[in-house]
Order: sequence, then structure tokens, then C-alpha cells
Amino acid sequence: MQTTLKIAIQKSGRLSESSLTLLKECGIDIDNGLNKLKVEASNFPLEIFFLRDDDIPQYVEDKVADLGIVGENVLLEKEKSLDIVDRLGFGKCRLSLAIPKEQAYSSLKDLNGKRIATSYPVLLSQYMSAQNVSTEIHEISGSVEIAPGIGLADAVCDLVSSGSTLFTNGLKEVEVVLRSEAVLIANKTLSSEQQELLSKLLFRMRSVRKAKTNKYILLNAPNDRLDAICAILPGMKSPTILPLADENWSSVHSVVEENKFWEIIEKLKAEGAQGILVVPIEKMIL
Ligand code: ATP
Ligand code: MG
Repeated sequence: MQTTLKIAIQKSGRLSESSLTLLKECGIDIDNGLNKLKVEASNFPLEIFFLRDDDIPQYVEDKVADLGIVGENVLLEKEKSLDIVDRLGFGKCRLSLAIPKEQAYSSLKDLNGKRIATSYPVLLSQYMSAQNVSTEIHEISGSVEIAPGIGLADAVCDLVSSGSTLFTNGLKEVEVVLRSEAVLIANKTLSSEQQELLSKLLFRMRSVRKAKTNKYILLNAPNDRLDAICAILPGMKSPTILPLADENWSSVHSVVEENKFWEIIEKLKAEGAQGILVVPIEKMIL
């Protein structure tokens, strides 16, 4: 029988679209008909299960699925013994403590003896005991942010990305308990054939991610500034230099990281580079 991998991803929520897009960008053909629990990829030995995110760590531990994509916050809350095989760079958020915005706050000690509403009782109690603060934790499964307003709690511990939900509920963020992003998790007992498939998948995922954080750059450089311009552009090995019809000029091609991009462009312009073009890279194989 052919070896396959089973991966569980969120059925509907903040991680669903990015998880599915990542698999598709890895060249995996998925026909995700609405409301299906499970689909098989047509060109890679992968089965995809669509589940609630809270259930994914348990399913991966029980080997119903071999792999899963979940927020690290969910994984740590569930305390399962699973491997994080990759951090995926999407679904970024933080688990934070927030209090009514009119209340003064100087340190975590101010929360001593207070009632805190959260969907993350395990992470919150670990954090509080590490900081030697004792609080009353009220576990609620949704709409945590309304708890202070209805008198259920004095503070909340909830996921935040932009902070707008806290703001509209009259709350202010005072401490970060955990920073989280989506992670690829795996059962600890994959067969060697499954490990091989996982390596292939990981290789593709990393190539996709690398391509996203890099751009291909082309520019024209006066020949007498080539050395200075090449020193600014490291490239994958070193920049490609092609002569232009005008013998005093060359075309220089390279790859630059997105987060250093503007800084590099400014330096290139200062060295006399002209006609700078920047294009996205679809896949990047190192
Ligand atoms: P499910 O129905 O699958 O249980 P859910 O309502 O528990 O869904 P979502 O709100 O879709 O979960 O969030 C899924 C994950 O997205 C979170 O666990 C977290 O890792 C991540 N995330 C990123 N930004 C945010 C945010 N601002 N608020 C909540 N979750 C966020
Ligand atoms: Mg959930």
C-alpha cells in the first residue's frame, strides 16, 4: 500500500485560508468541496482533514492525523506531546492580559486576587504561578472580551492581533503572556516512509516561504560604481552582471530580503543605480 500523510487543518476560522493556500503553493492539488471533512490530494500522497482548531492536537496525538497546522497558543494550552516541525509565519498574535482602560496599572501584582476570564486557563495559570501572582481564573469558551463589561471578571486574558477588539470593549492591554504563530505539528511516531514524505513537504514549504520574504531586483549601474553596488547586493551567491549596449553601463541582477529592502534601495540610489526593477519570486530553491 502506498504511504500517505494525513494533515489536519482548521475547517473554518482565521487559519483556514492561509493553511490551505500554503498547501496549494506547495503544488498540492486540493479540491476542497464545501463542508467536506476530508479530501485527498490528487498529486501528492496527502489527505487533508478539516477540523476545529481545538481538536487538532488531540487528533495528531491519537494518530488520526499525522500532521496538523494550529496556533502555538492552542498547542501549548492542550499540553500534548507533539513535535513542532516548522513555524509557518502566519496567524501571528499574542495572548495578552487586558483590563478596563480607566483602571490604573503599574505591575502584574495589581492583578493579585482578581478574577480573570480566559479561554486559555492552562497558559494563564502557568504564567501567573511563574510570576508569583495568585488570581481566580474563569474559563469561558468565547467572547472573553465582554466579561469585564458584564461583571463576570476584573480582567481578561485573550488573543490579540491589532488590539481593536479590546479597544471597542473598553479594555487596554497590560501584559503579553505568549507570542504565537501557526505551527506545523507532527506525531512523534511517523514511519521512515512518512518521515521522507514530511521532508519533501517541508522542503516545499520552506521554498515557498523563502520566496515570499525575498525579491528579485534588477538595476542599471555605471561600470565605475559596480564594485560598490555589488557590495550592497549579496545575492544568493553573488550578483549577476550583464553588459548593456552602452559600454559604460551594466545590468545587475540579484535577490534581496524584504525586510532590508528599502534600506538597500536607498544605498543603491546613493551609489548611482538607475532603472531599479523589483519583481516577486514564486519559489526559491537553495
Ligand atoms: P474553531 O472554530 O476552529 O475552534 P476558533 O474560533 O477557536 O476556531 P479562530 O478565532 O479562527 O479560532 O483563531 C484560530 C487561531 O488563529 C488562534 O488560535 C490563533 O492562533 C490565531 N489568531 C491570529 N490572530 C488572532 C486574533 N486576533 N484573535 C484570535 N486568534 C488569532
Ligand atoms: Mg477553537
